[in-house]
Amino acid sequence: MNDARGALPSTLLRVDLNRGTIVEDEIPAALAVQALGGNGLGVQMLWDEVPPSLDPLDSDSLLVLAAGALTGTSWPCAARLEAIGKSPLTGIYGDSNCGGFFGPELRFSGVDAIAVSGRASEPVMLWIEDGRSWLEPAAHLWGLDTVETEASIRAQKGDPHVKVACVGPAAEQGVLFGSIQCSPGRSLARSGLGTLMASKRLKAIAVRGKRRIDVADPDGFARLSAAMHKRIRGNAAFPAVSKYGTPGIVELMDTIGRFPTHNFRTGSFEASEAISGAALRERFWVKDTGCFACPVRCDKVYRVTGGDFDGVTTSSFEYETLTALGSGVGVGDLGAVLAANDRCDRLGLDTISTGRVISFAVELFELGILHSNDTGGMQLRWGDSHMVLALIEQIASRRGLGELLALGVRRAAAELGPGAADFAMEVKGLEIPGQDGRAQQSMGLAHITSSRGADHLKAFPTLDEAGDAEGVRRRYGDAYLPEMADPQATLHKPLLVKDGEDFGAVVDSVGVCKSGGTFVMAELYWAEIAAGLTLACGEEYDEATLRRLGERIVNLMRAYNALHGVDRRDDRLPRRFHEEPASSGGAHGHVAHAEEMLNEYYDLRGWDRSRGWPTSETLRRLDLADVAERLEGLGHG
Ligand code: SF4
Repeated sequence: MNDARGALPSTLLRVDLNRGTIVEDEIPAALAVQALGGNGLGVQMLWDEVPPSLDPLDSDSLLVLAAGALTGTSWPCAARLEAIGKSPLTGIYGDSNCGGFFGPELRFSGVDAIAVSGRASEPVMLWIEDGRSWLEPAAHLWGLDTVETEASIRAQKGDPHVKVACVGPAAEQGVLFGSIQCSPGRSLARSGLGTLMASKRLKAIAVRGKRRIDVADPDGFARLSAAMHKRIRGNAAFPAVSKYGTPGIVELMDTIGRFPTHNFRTGSFEASEAISGAALRERFWVKDTGCFACPVRCDKVYRVTGGDFDGVTTSSFEYETLTALGSGVGVGDLGAVLAANDRCDRLGLDTISTGRVISFAVELFELGILHSNDTGGMQLRWGDSHMVLALIEQIASRRGLGELLALGVRRAAAELGPGAADFAMEVKGLEIPGQDGRAQQSMGLAHITSSRGADHLKAFPTLDEAGDAEGVRRRYGDAYLPEMADPQATLHKPLLVKDGEDFGAVVDSVGVCKSGGTFVMAELYWAEIAAGLTLACGEEYDEATLRRLGERIVNLMRAYNALHGVDRRDDRLPRRFHEEPASSGGAHGHVAHAEEMLNEYYDLRGWDRSRGWPTSETLRRLDLADVAERLEGLGHG
């Protein structure tokens, strides 16, 4: 760790699996100051090193794992690790973010980021321990599930505290939405980056470290961190989020009609109470757990008692999985949803994409677009938990119908031909998570502008979810009321989404958790993150600087996608959200208006209205002259 730059990332491990070499590189200080780590660093590396002509699974394709500037410090929820790469699922910019302990441990081992290129001839694993790193054969681990892999590595080392990031059988088989599972039970799931890792025959990365992270002003940083922990604990939402985690929002989402059910046919689920946060807590809760330095401890361990899935024990179980593998496929048996989550984690599958591709298949079967000769005789029906579990196994092994579903909904729809695409609930090839754009207009816009495809976390617009007028007043002022707090209004929503994306880009780069977003935005907003970074890194950050850096990261992601031909035509929601009015909850009768907000959004961003690309002027203002020149070379001004 370089003392002169405090906690800013400095050490990059370059692993070339073609040659079997590992080189320790220093991240240039000027880059660290602007990128901050995490996805700020990752997108810069993609821009510089992964040309648009390269297939995501080409051996030269790069997988970056990067901690943030605050990861591993005492800052609340500073547990995050970011994976960045060209997505095998979407073919464009991809990233994924997880908590747990792997990211902090990586930094304790003296490494801030890892860039993996090449492809090993046989499966290998990467060891990193207190400044030393080496590759070892891992053929004995290939084929093991993620839980077995972690256990085997820990047993081999004789150290139960080794932290592991590994892929499971699904990624090894080439399923396009394979995840990377990180200790303990956390998932880098979105964008199929586990499949990218497996394509390199890199089964696992194991880290152990005892180094301290240097911060520029240890006393000042410790005092501010302690105050921020206290502030989070004092937030009115703390007891509920801490007790139920993200599953605690099921009832609210169901009421407002934003709880995707039956492949987004509706936004309310008749069995929502049975799979609510309260039901989970009452029936299957074993203990609270959480990520490094987190006061919230929103994660829980659950054990199923009774029924067909008696004894299944799982954790890191989120709202998203409750909709994808519960309401989305019509399953109201909580034990079955937990069992499906457990299988996805062990096999290394993104639960969101898995659930959505299964619900897509069920709807097509019901409509007669898929037939029993496509399913090997299996009847696909809403609510059949055993069918869901069977399809998870088929997807992971790419057997039977799983061969098609392993492609994700966009490619599966293309294979199936006319009619199927109408029911493919995706944006830019990424399956839509648990937010119906008809129930919350800002979320629809967030899905279409997100760099990695459909996504709620890039912008995380929560103020209009349930009419948080006080939040709007605090962040924007009375002039933005009542519209900004109204889920159906479109006025001011482009600003809400743009601000959220810029802030999210910074948060994902410094390594702070957004799952506790209630607290991150309410208690740790621009000024607090800037103060923490200044004390940790010894660089002067203020709100204006961070806003600019967030904007810079978002523009670089957009420019990278532009190189791949992404433009305004790709910023669109599926047909269903426009043509089928919502049929339930507060959203009843509404359709999505996301595309109608694009002009205002582009204007706020300084992107041209026809293509939706950053203008040269915008890029130069953000210190991205080289990016401007490259887009100009494509005839863009
Ligand atoms: S809020 Fe939850 S997901 Fe976020 S750091 Fe804390 S325990 Fe982890």
